[in-house]
Parts: sequence; C-alpha cells; structure tokens
Amino acid sequence: MTPVHCFTNQRIALFGLGGSGLVTAQALRLGGAQLDVWDDSEGARAKAAALGLNLIDLNTADWSHYRALILAPGVPLTHPAPHWSAAKAHAAGIEIIGDIELFARERARLAPKSHFIAITGTNGKSTTTALIAHIMREAGFDAQMGGNIGVAVLALEPPAANRVHIIECSSYQIDLAPTLRPSVGVLLNVTPDHIDRHGTFENYAALKQKLVANSDIAVIAVDDNTTRAIAETLPRAVRVSAKDKADVYFSGGLILNKSGAVLADLTSATALRGQHNGQNAAAAFAACAAIGVAGPTIAAAFLTFPGLAHRMQQIAKIGDVLFINDSKATNADAAEKALLSFENIYWILGGKAKDGGIEPLERYFPKIIKAYLIGAASDEFAQTLKDKVPFERCGTLDVATRCAARDAAAAAKPAVVLLAPACASFDQFPNFEIRGDAFRAAVENLK
Ligand code: ADP
Repeated sequence: MTPVHCFTNQRIALFGLGGSGLVTAQALRLGGAQLDVWDDSEGARAKAAALGLNLIDLNTADWSHYRALILAPGVPLTHPAPHWSAAKAHAAGIEIIGDIELFARERARLAPKSHFIAITGTNGKSTTTALIAHIMREAGFDAQMGGNIGVAVLALEPPAANRVHIIECSSYQIDLAPTLRPSVGVLLNVTPDHIDRHGTFENYAALKQKLVANSDIAVIAVDDNTTRAIAETLPRAVRVSAKDKADVYFSGGLILNKSGAVLADLTSATALRGQHNGQNAAAAFAACAAIGVAGPTIAAAFLTFPGLAHRMQQIAKIGDVLFINDSKATNADAAEKALLSFENIYWILGGKAKDGGIEPLERYFPKIIKAYLIGAASDEFAQTLKDKVPFERCGTLDVATRCAARDAAAAAKPAVVLLAPACASFDQFPNFEIRGDAFRAAVENLK
C-alpha cells in the first residue's frame, strides 16, 4: 500500500466506495488525512463500515470544511451531468481528484525521478500494460502494475528509486489527475468511445493527449488520425506503428527500427498474434527501451509473455486444433481482431447482440469453416450467416465447444476453435470472464 501524505491532518471527502475507493480511503487514512466517506449504495457503505472508515452522509454534510473531494473514476464528473457530490465540491470551490492524482503527488514527494510508465488508448491498454510489466520483470526491475487493470494504484508499493510503476489509465482517471506527469506516457489509439461521459470526441481525445503531452518521454502509435494529430504537436515523441514505417514499427511479424533493422520477432509469440498486438508490442518496445532496457531482453520477453486471460488467449492445443478464448470480444470490432489473426476458423459466437450485429464482419466469412451459435443472438446471426457460412445452432457454450471441436478434429488439418462471441455475455453469463472460464472448462472436458 502507498500511504498518501498530501492531506495529512486535513479534512477531505471521498465519494465512491468500490474496490479502488476503499483502497484510496485506507491509503489516505494511513497518511493521516481526516476523511469522510460516502457512497450511494448501501452495500458499498457496509464494506467501508467494516474497515472502520468514517461514514458521513455527504448529501447533508457541511462542505465548507473540506479541502478536496476524492472521486472514484466511475462517477460522472462532467457528463452526462455532474454527480451530486461533484456539484457540491464545485459549489464549495474545492478540487476534485482521483487516486492516480494522489499517486502522482506521493511520487513527486517520495521519488520524483522513479520510473513511472502510464498507458492509455481506446483499445489495448491492458495488454500493453501487462506486456510492459512482464518485460520490466524479465529485465530485473521491481515492477508494480496497476491502475485501471485491476489492482488500485494505491494498493501498490510506494514509488522508490529502484522501482517501476506501470499504470493503466482510463480517460476517466486522467480527467481526475491534473498533475499526472509520467516518466513515460504511452498512447495507443483513439477511436470514439465513452462520449457519454466526456460530452464530445474532442474532450475525450484531449484527455488522451494530456497524458502524453505531460510525460517526460511520449510514445505514440500513429495509426489513426487522432493520435497522428497529437504526435504532430509533440515533435520529440517516439512514434510507433503497426501500419507504416516509424521510429519503432511492426511489419511482417517483426518489430523494426526506423532504419529497418530487426529488433524482435513476434512470429512465435503466441500471446501477441495479430496486427493490433503488433501495435501493442511496438509501443511496449519503445517504452521499455526509453528507460534503458536492452533490445534483446525485450525481444526475449515477448516470447515468454503469457498474455491476458480472455483476450485471444490460447488455452489448449489438441492434435492440430488450437483453442482460443477471446471472450473479451464483446462486439464486432473486437471479434474482427481475432478473425483477422487466424485461418480455418470454427467460430463460436452469440450472446446478447450489440447494435449492427455481425454484419461488419462479412468480409472475413471466407475464413470461417463453420459457425456455432449460442445465446439470444442466434436468430439474428443465423440470418446474417445464411447462404454464406455453414452454421449450427448450439444453444449453449458447452454444446458449441463440443460440436466445434468434433468438426475441427475431423478436418485433419490445422484449425482453430475460436470463442469470439461479438456479443455481451449477460444473457447466459454474469460477465465475459465467467463466459471465458466456462469455455476453458468445456475444453478441459474434451481432453
Ligand atoms: P483495453 O484494456 O484497452 O480494453 P485490452 O488489452 O483488454 O484493451 O484488449 C481488449 C480487446 O481490444 C482485445 O481483445 C482486442 O480485440 C482489442 N485490442 C487489443 N489491442 C488493440 C490495439 N492496439 N488496437 C485495437 N484493438 C486492440
């Protein structure tokens, strides 16, 4: 845990008692802040009470005593409308900040020159964060990984000269972190997302820009118009790409430098398949090299990266058949990355359909030998596949896994059974993780 000292003996309010809120409250308390906490949900308040935190109904509290509001990133700051706690903080004229900001202030106090790599982007944040952490560990660093990736940033060990913090930052977290100044900032891509929470695409992109603009070293993947425009404003940024030549770029399975020399070979890196992972790997290479990790160490670490669960994760190979769990592919865009990355696909899909269904994926239909439909979207997807791809209605994931494995094994050539549902899981599973675990269990049963 990183105790936070910037509010020692000062009264502050904290709203939002989810996982990261509870950690933040404890870190502030350890640092000696006088903290009043609240949440709209009774269940969350019960957890805070169990930790002995000071529950005060901030609806009726006197805000003139507070120096700051610490807000959980999931709580609307500006759009669609400021949460009532944010409105009260505005009225009281106090700052509204989040846990990443508290971390940044603690780092400025304890170890301002410590390595701090912050990663943002619309897609690929978690993969790139985990990849950088893996490389740094292989290079012998005490690598502390957290932020939006699961472990709250203040649950990590404090910044220190011999440590590196690798922190995934969502746009919400950047919005609550006015003095965020990483030693290395990584921006992967910016495509429309979360506009409901930021008002406009421009606001959303401006937050992503802020992270790299305030970094000592900026690493920017210049593969979309928005990141290209951001890189234009930062001439010293390290440019990476999975499409064109750049300072570090991905092409033909290799990571190359701007003179075309090979830095790393990803062709046997099973957790980094596909062009999108080429972008992630190029960014990770540039970020780690920027703080002095040797190229061959990074190249070797790519090959031992285990990947993240549920993201194009290879979970088994039975005979010539690979089983890939991409349960995180909850929409057509994400499923496209998987369809692009494999051939001879036995595709398990379905669930709670998103707008547009799988029509945008039609151009990949020739790569699919057969589709196996599950869940609520079965009728809709059957209509889209009809006369283009053979399909079978399987109902459940368990049945689909058995049918796909049977057909793939009978084909007697290298094949892939791919769970890339292009749907939310909520019709049959509580979340995509449990859906992915169910797939893994079904594959285990085949053996
Ligand atoms: P995030 O943390 O930003 O949600 P993840 O690393 O968890 O990203 O990846 C989620 C999904 O996004 C992956 O399953 C893949 O389909 C897609 N993806 C990963 N990296 C990229 C990238 N660099 N560009 C575009 N899409 C990506």
